[in-house]
Parts: sequence; C-alpha cells; structure tokens
Amino acid sequence: MHKSITNLIEIKREIKSNNLNLKSDIKIIAVSKTFSMENILPLIDFGHIDFGENKVQEALEKWSEIKNKNSNLNLHMIGKLQTNKVKQAVKIFDFIHSLDSLKLAKKISEEQIKIKKNLKIFIQINIGDEIQKNGIKPEDLSNFYQTCINDFKLDIIGLMCLPPNNLDSSKYFKKMINLAENLSLKELSMGMSSDYLTALEHKATFVRVGSKIFGERS
Ligand SMILES: *Cc1c(COP(=O)(O)O)cnc(C)c1O
Repeated sequence: MHKSITNLIEIKREIKSNNLNLKSDIKIIAVSKTFSMENILPLIDFGHIDFGENKVQEALEKWSEIKNKNSNLNLHMIGKLQTNKVKQAVKIFDFIHSLDSLKLAKKISEEQIKIKKNLKIFIQINIGDEIQKNGIKPEDLSNFYQTCINDFKLDIIGLMCLPPNNLDSSKYFKKMINLAENLSLKELSMGMSSDYLTALEHKATFVRVGSKIFGERS
C-alpha cells in the first residue's frame, strides 16, 4: 500500500481514538502542493476526494485532466489568490479558503457569474494579527461578510486561519469559534499536520494536512 494511504488511515484512526466530540462530517484535505500526480493517484484510487493546492498554475497542470474524469473530486485553494489568477482558479477549484479582500471577492463574483459556477468560500482571518499574514482582521469581519453575501452573492460557508507558528494554537482556535458563531457560520478550516487534533478539539470541520500524509516537501 502506498505510504500516503497508510498515513491517511493512521490519521483517521488517531482522530477516532482521541474520542473527540466531532461533528460527523469533518473533512481531511490532503494538501498535495509540490507533489506530483504519481504521488496523489493512490489516494484518489483509495477513494479520497478532498485535495488542497496553493498555486493556481500548479493546480491547473496537475488536476485538469483527472478532474474531468472524476467529477466527485473536491479541489481546495488554500494559498494566497491574486486577482489576475481568479479566472483560472474559479474554473479548477471547488472551494476557496483564502478570501482576504473585497477586490478579490468582487473578482470571484464576476468570474463565477460568467461560467455559472458557485464555489464554496472561506474568509481567511488574520487571527494572530500578524503583519506577514493575509486575512481579514477580526474587527472588520462582520462588515466584510455582509458585503460578500449582499453585494457579491458569494457562498461563504466558513472561516479559515493560519495561527502564528510555534505557539499553542488553542487560543487562536477558540477565537475562531467565537467569530464563526457570531455569524452563524458552520465551517471552520483550521489545523495542519502539527495541530490538526487541537483544531478538531476546537470544532474544526476541515483540516488541511500535507506533510503528515505525503511526507516532507523538498
Ligand atoms: C502547506 C499548507 C498546509 C499543510 O501544511 P502541512 O504542515 O504540510 O500539513 C495547510 N494549510 C496551508 C494554507 C498550507 O499552505
């Protein structure tokens, strides 16, 4: 069995054995950035459907063909999205986790209308208030959200964050729960290889796991 499959099975077993009070519908996004289709195919054949990429060009090259053949696959954009890449992004992706500006919201809205597609979208929150990170500030979220749904008719399903590195993520995940609840948003995209169990304890519904499934990236 391919290593990515045993890793995924182990992660699922670990989640079960931690007896977390999980929502039944948590999704593990296998973050396949930098890995070739050769490394990804075993997981697709195994039946895994949620995959994450952080670059539009790489996603197009890797996923266009296989997505045409497997309409059930869900491709998640988890990286910074530039407005000049939105046209292509809307074509290849099913979810966007990194909505972080009104300019981007407007562009996504325009491109979606053109091809009659409605992506599921997360608003990225700069939860640690870090200058080097993207995302909406918690205090701006409510207005931002209203504009996205009223003016741009986006299907905002939840919030996403990348908490500060090397710190206990719990404190940030707790803030995310509050923000989501204030807007009655059901989904939380948080947790990576190092902290997905902590994220799941804090009501994450989508965890984004790369290296723990595919191995270290070079
Ligand atoms: C790369 C990446 C991940 C996965 O990181 P790992 O530590 O390999 O699990 C998750 N989220 C985002 C936004 C990423 O860019």
